Amino acid sequence: MTRKVKALGIMGGTFDPIHYGHLVTAEGARCTFGLSQVLFVPSGRPPHKEGAQVTDAEHRYMMTVLATLTNPYFEVSRTEIDRVGVSYTIDTLRILREQYGPDVELFFITGADAIFDIVSWKDSSRCLEMAHFVAATRPGFSLEHLPEATRQWVAGHKERFHILQVPAMAISSTEIRERVREGVSIRYLVPEPVEHYIRRQGLYKQTLPPSQENSAN
Ligand code: ATP
Ligand code: MG
Repeated sequence: MTRKVKALGIMGGTFDPIHYGHLVTAEGARCTFGLSQVLFVPSGRPPHKEGAQVTDAEHRYMMTVLATLTNPYFEVSRTEIDRVGVSYTIDTLRILREQYGPDVELFFITGADAIFDIVSWKDSSRCLEMAHFVAATRPGFSLEHLPEATRQWVAGHKERFHILQVPAMAISSTEIRERVREGVSIRYLVPEPVEHYIRRQGLYKQTLPPSQENSAN
């Protein structure tokens, strides 16, 4: 990476698998906030998905690399998957701040659904001090219907909290996994190399045992 990064987008997620909803959101944030780079950070062991079934981190990392290869502004980080234990956003922000130095502005990008439980994130206010938060619109999750405590929290941090309108993609990884399991096409929901990878590796064909692996806040 030779380009000087002034504003860094951080797109965290389980990416199980990565799909066009993630990509359109990251690209929307890049264009709107003039980001020099968007770093996709596949989760290690996610606090909100503990006990859930999550695919091996190396598969999720590889699919994220394949999906982002053709965008020169997109990079993938192993920060969370190489870390032992549960990954919290606050820890990732601290690590990236150290890696990128004090001058870079950080923009943490999430979908609207992630905002609903933001008050329960570890050190959520400190996260907002370290990074701008970008909440992207997502079909099925209206930011007008936030719980009262969350609404107040957002209002208290409004200089650092940005709502981003992105083209509506009613896609979720959950639905993609179900489609694969049921033998239904996922073409045009994920980039072609990801579709091929899923097929070659035989991912999502069956229900996994409750997991050892996976992402966080
Ligand atoms: P799952 O169904 O397994 O929870 P997901 O589709 O929600 O998967 P995640 O990896 O959980 O994908 O999401 C990573 C980030 O991308 C989250 O901040 C989430 O809100 C956001 N995101 C996911 N899908 C979309 C979408 N279709 N539009 C906008 N944001 C999205
Ligand atoms: Mg999700």
